[in-house]
Amino acid sequence: MAEQYDVAIVGAGIVGLANAWAACRRGNRVILFERDHRAIGASIRNFGMIYPIGQPLGIQSTVARQSRKLWLEVAEESGIWLNQCGSLHLAHHDDEWEVLKEFIPVAANDGLHLELLTPEETVRRSPAVNPDGLRGALWSEHEMGVNPAEAISSIPLWLEETFGLKTCFDTTISKCDENLLVASDGRSWEANKTVICSGADTRTLYPHLLAESQLNHCKLQMMRTKPQSTPWLLGPHIAGGLTLRHYPVFSVCKSQKLVQQRVTENNPELNQYGIHVLAAQLPTGEVILGDSHEYGDELHPFEQSHIEELILRELHKIIRLPTWRIGERWHGIYTRSVDGIPYVAAPSHNTRIMTGMGGSGMTSAFGIAEQLWTEWH
Ligand SMILES: Cc1cc2nc3c(=O)[nH]c(=O)nc-3n(C[C@H](O)[C@H](O)[C@H](O)COP(=O)(O)OP(=O)(O)OC[C@H]3O[C@@H](n4cnc5c(N)ncnc54)[C@H](O)[C@@H]3O)c2cc1C
Repeated sequence: MAEQYDVAIVGAGIVGLANAWAACRRGNRVILFERDHRAIGASIRNFGMIYPIGQPLGIQSTVARQSRKLWLEVAEESGIWLNQCGSLHLAHHDDEWEVLKEFIPVAANDGLHLELLTPEETVRRSPAVNPDGLRGALWSEHEMGVNPAEAISSIPLWLEETFGLKTCFDTTISKCDENLLVASDGRSWEANKTVICSGADTRTLYPHLLAESQLNHCKLQMMRTKPQSTPWLLGPHIAGGLTLRHYPVFSVCKSQKLVQQRVTENNPELNQYGIHVLAAQLPTGEVILGDSHEYGDELHPFEQSHIEELILRELHKIIRLPTWRIGERWHGIYTRSVDGIPYVAAPSHNTRIMTGMGGSGMTSAFGIAEQLWTEWH
């Protein structure tokens, strides 16, 4: 007879872990499946940025801030590294500075605590900031950093120890039918509720439904430096002016169009590869740098050096690092819905699919899972 559980979760990325925690906290007997020996998808390939300021104002921003609170709880209880570092959005052009000034009052209405900094104040917040041509920066206290690989490998262990979560790694679920889950090697389990958190894999479970969902695949190129020499610390997460045209949240500012126009006219190659630049530091000293965004079903399988060169070229304009030596390069793939809203579907009364987190799964997964488990009886 198949082993029985209250809840089964498929996928041990951040979305699966957030759902596993939400289900465990509600007293359920939970089993978590992961096809690989450990999760190695988007959730370990990101910046580790918990980034509420990047979320569209309104419900998505509120959920992100709720998620932020849940991260604090997870870190406190599990002992994972979490840095309440905040963020700086740098303006090295007048139009970028205008966007930041326009953003402050609108964001304040939504409950974000932000501050405009002079160039002198900005360089005091981070030794990495390039002062040449700096108009100023937007300081936000909301952002935090985690070490993604550490978080994704530690949270399942903490859930096992604290709530008796059953983990099944190296197990691909190939069929999910009402209460029954079947693995590719023929083993099976029964669960009263199942949440499928399969990330960018839209072809194994519910492929027809996911094909109709219009989820886009997006490939991002990333790299990280060798550890920076101590005691140098980046401090806050750093974003450049290019980010102001990338995140839809800044579309509330009329000057965003000026930034977009300038980039389109002067640097169309940045639009071609969806490049904006961010930097975040790991506790071990490496600085994670990125990124690019290429969409479609036929993504180039390899890292492309010309994209890396463009990312580095733009980073050199806004930050200075003690070492730019690159230790590792990789890419990650996520799914994103056309409207940017996470995809949550109910293929049957006891099954939910949760994916399409786009570039904000680390930020919002805990909040979105909490919402699901509050409403799902
Ligand atoms: C380069 C990059 C940078 C990013 N930076 C950030 C950031 O700084 N901040 C932020 O908020 N977000 C960021 N994101 C987005 C974030 O990483 C994703 O939204 C999030 O990780 C998606 O989580 P997930 O659990 O849905 O997917 P994944 O992490 O891909 O997890 C899905 C898991 O499901 C498993 N699986 C799939 N099918 C099966 C099956 N049939 N049986 C068993 N297991 C299965 C897979 O093996 C995988 O481990 C970034 C993403 C990328 C790629």
